[in-house]
Amino acid sequence: MSSMPVIGVFTVGTILSLALFSFNEDRPVSTPTATINSDAGDAKYSSAGFDLTPWTKSQIEERCKDLTEEQIRITQASGTERPFCGTLLDNKKDGIYCCVVCRLPLFESTSKFTSGTGWPSFYRALAEGHIVEIEDKSHGMVRTEIRCGRCGGHLGHVFPDGPPPTGRRYCLNSEALEFYEEGDDLPEGARPDAEIGYFAGGCFWGVEHGFSLLPGVLDVVSGYQQGTVDRPEYKAVCAGTTGHAESVKVVFDPDVIDFGTLCKYFMYLHDPTQLNRQGPDRGTQYRSGIYTVGEKQLNTARQVLSEVQASEEFSGRQIVTELEAAKTFWAAEDYHQDYIAKTGRVCHVNIPAALKAIGRDPADLSAGH
Ligand SMILES: [Zn+2]
Repeated sequence: MSSMPVIGVFTVGTILSLALFSFNEDRPVSTPTATINSDAGDAKYSSAGFDLTPWTKSQIEERCKDLTEEQIRITQASGTERPFCGTLLDNKKDGIYCCVVCRLPLFESTSKFTSGTGWPSFYRALAEGHIVEIEDKSHGMVRTEIRCGRCGGHLGHVFPDGPPPTGRRYCLNSEALEFYEEGDDLPEGARPDAEIGYFAGGCFWGVEHGFSLLPGVLDVVSGYQQGTVDRPEYKAVCAGTTGHAESVKVVFDPDVIDFGTLCKYFMYLHDPTQLNRQGPDRGTQYRSGIYTVGEKQLNTARQVLSEVQASEEFSGRQIVTELEAAKTFWAAEDYHQDYIAKTGRVCHVNIPAALKAIGRDPADLSAGH
């Protein structure tokens, strides 16, 4: 399997629709820490499907050959442009604002607002992990510097005096950004590297293992989702007090395996007719759910669920899988990741049945797992 999947046609509109549904009100938008990426751990893909593997020094140096002196001064030496001079200050077009160095999408035009400060201002980052925050004590002040989550380029600062719904003001240098209008073809770096799906089907150890075997699946992470508190811990989730389901984040190459196939595989991997339990595991944290990113995924999942329900195998057995827009995914503690692969234990999932349902043979399984 190639490490960098080739994605078909991706335009700004695609990114907007992917990103739009990954936002929700219980995101940790007001916590100025060094990182706001709740997909922490060994996951390198953001909820919008971008590979956030840090750029190397040589990658940055190579790219800087194409940048202007001012762009290099700002992004590589934490420079600041003069107010009311930036080219993007008054830009009101629909589209996305990317890092000028690595082209990672950082902001959507829908979160841009007129702050009156003289610098382009936004109230929300495009996706978690795309921007990192660092305490900055230079110039005799304590401020929060913002940097690109992939190449580390300096972007500006974030302040706690922005408009609702986040109350944050991301203050940017125009020269640290590159704007792409909606409908524009996106260059490499600004296009998603993968698509993300979220599935809850009882204990995440087995579900994670089941998905990790499929060709086209690039990464699978165990975590907690659809609950009511930030940064939940295993113990609290198990006590049933946080409202989270044990879920897995599946990063996949849509050119190799599509979301509908993943949904169908999932329906046979676990028992979607058991309410708030899977076998001996009981409690709402073991509920069955597909948490979708965007309208397209929601429609696909709905279609698959109704087809599976109509099949003979489920005749007289009611599917109880919940379909909801994905809320923040919190990666589980490290010891839960790759648990089955590490321990060789068995879990509740039925991998042969799931493979059969999508017309695959166990011999097709992804190598290396
Ligand atoms: Zn960057």
